[in-house]
Amino acid sequence: MEKIVIIGGGIIGQFTAYYLSKSDYEVVIVDDATGMPPASSGNCGLVTPSHIAPLNSFSAMLQGVKWLGKKDAPLSIKPQLDGAFIKWFLSFMWHSRKSSIKKVVAVRNEMLQSSWRLYQEYLTSELSESAFKPDGLMFVANSKSGFQTLKKEVEFLSSNSLSSEIITKSKLLDLEPSIKDDAVGGAIFHTDGWLRPDRLLEEIKKINNKNGVKTYTGQVTEINTTRNSITSIQTEQDEISSNKFILAAGAPSYLLARKIGISLPMIPGKGYNLTYATSLKNQPKLPVYMFEKKVVATPWADGFRLGSTMEFTGFDNSLNTKRLEALKRASKEYLHTDIDQSDPQPWAGWRPMSSRGLPIIEQSNKYKNLIIATGHGMLGLSLAPATGQIISELIKKGDSN
Ligand SMILES: Cc1cc2nc3c(=O)[nH]c(=O)nc-3n(C[C@H](O)[C@H](O)[C@H](O)COP(=O)(O)OP(=O)(O)OC[C@H]3O[C@@H](n4cnc5c(N)ncnc54)[C@H](O)[C@@H]3O)c2cc1C
Repeated sequence: MEKIVIIGGGIIGQFTAYYLSKSDYEVVIVDDATGMPPASSGNCGLVTPSHIAPLNSFSAMLQGVKWLGKKDAPLSIKPQLDGAFIKWFLSFMWHSRKSSIKKVVAVRNEMLQSSWRLYQEYLTSELSESAFKPDGLMFVANSKSGFQTLKKEVEFLSSNSLSSEIITKSKLLDLEPSIKDDAVGGAIFHTDGWLRPDRLLEEIKKINNKNGVKTYTGQVTEINTTRNSITSIQTEQDEISSNKFILAAGAPSYLLARKIGISLPMIPGKGYNLTYATSLKNQPKLPVYMFEKKVVATPWADGFRLGSTMEFTGFDNSLNTKRLEALKRASKEYLHTDIDQSDPQPWAGWRPMSSRGLPIIEQSNKYKNLIIATGHGMLGLSLAPATGQIISELIKKGDSN
């Protein structure tokens, strides 16, 4: 049996292991389980086929620059003189051209659709307890300009055959009594769903374990190479050899790749959440995206999460209380939900933000036995099954060649 070592046990590493373990491979995951739970646990839990447009835009960056120094802004950019950041920033701008975005939208659309189908297969065959609900995602705008932008977004989605609708204020308040009267209007993206990402991650770990996937707990500190291949990886305790490696370590993939002379076009994009251990009084039925504040409220039968913000401040995982407070303020502005009912657990983690708005899923040019699977940005949960399946196909195809 051929051995495959996956560096990183987040949702991308786990779904990759899931599909590989269905074929005849010995799959080993090496995961650094120290520190805060990864983005795969702390994300907002949205599976969003509607999210076909990348963040890349001149206006997004302009907005980020305008917000420079505003400590609770939803997008924060700390200008960095570091070469990697400058390279990423220039590439991000280059990929903000209309022609690039058009191509990226088409690929994201196809991958998101495929991932949604694979989620349905996974949920049925594994009788998942991740509380997946395919009922849609609600947007609320508290300003006329926000509502106008939402209308354009709905038109854009229809032109890409994705079902969504604009909701007038009265219908919005009717549909969702947890929304405050300040709303100007909203929208529902019918294509989307949500789940409990922490439960999904724990569940798929157990399934993989049952399917024979071995997990080593430890931080990969070194990658040993010859001229054009990887021979082994090093943790504090072990040296693990293999003929094939997959790098799926989320944002830190950048740091590991750099050790072996690969410069991945990605940087960490820090996000925050506040998680309540029980459901809250007046929580919404659907997840709600508070449009102007870019904050998501995700309701579960036994919990509630507020999540958001994009900080480009390097590999810093400190908790900024101003941003956490901003999540609460947004919720109080848009929703009747009683967020003072109990104390939430704060969290911060890194999204692996590629400069192009597409994940980096490729055979390395430099090392013939390395596949890279990272850079999923704001869509890692949504794209995990499709990524796992693509990698597994890539490996099987390589082996049959
Ligand atoms: C606030 C927030 C909200 C989000 N909301 C959504 C959402 O609603 N929907 C969606 O689709 N996506 C969302 N995302 C994005 C999504 O969470 C990420 O794209 C996804 O989790 C990336 O998964 P990953 O497995 O690549 O990385 P990670 O989840 O970061 O996992 C990487 C794993 O690699 C391990 N690792 C790292 N370095 C090493 C090392 N040196 N040695 C060994 N192991 C290592 C880590 O310990 C970790 O377990 C959100 C992200 C954030 C931050």
